[in-house]
Amino acid sequence: MPAKFLRPCAQPGCPALSTTTRCPLHQAQHVQAENARKGSASARGYGAGWKRTRYAYWQAHGQRDADGRLVVYCVACAEEGVQREATVLDHIQPIHQAPELRLDWDNLRPLCNSCNVKAGRAARQIER
Ligand SMILES: [Zn+2]
Ligand SMILES: [Zn+2]
Repeated sequence: MPAKFLRPCAQPGCPALSTTTRCPLHQAQHVQAENARKGSASARGYGAGWKRTRYAYWQAHGQRDADGRLVVYCVACAEEGVQREATVLDHIQPIHQAPELRLDWDNLRPLCNSCNVKAGRAARQIER
């Protein structure tokens, strides 16, 4: 293995030499900028508002099971008389059709995995 050699900091104009890509100061700034970028990327998708909505919805609709776990039941299975734990919070009107209803509780329904897959397939079939 060759010995590590000093090289200039990747930040233009920074005179610091270091064994890493950036000097410690600019490395810290780089990490901060990366985190900010990731933060805005998540805001473009579901984002923090969605996480809060999902959490509040789960708290409001959940029931504690024998182990004290918060369980929400699948509404589609419930219609069939089956009690199955929901794993996803589904948008009744998909986000791409009704983005303004993204955080609207009336547009949300808890589904189990298999009902979520079924709902996804059905939605795609209608679109064709
Ligand atoms: Zn630097
Ligand atoms: Zn289900």
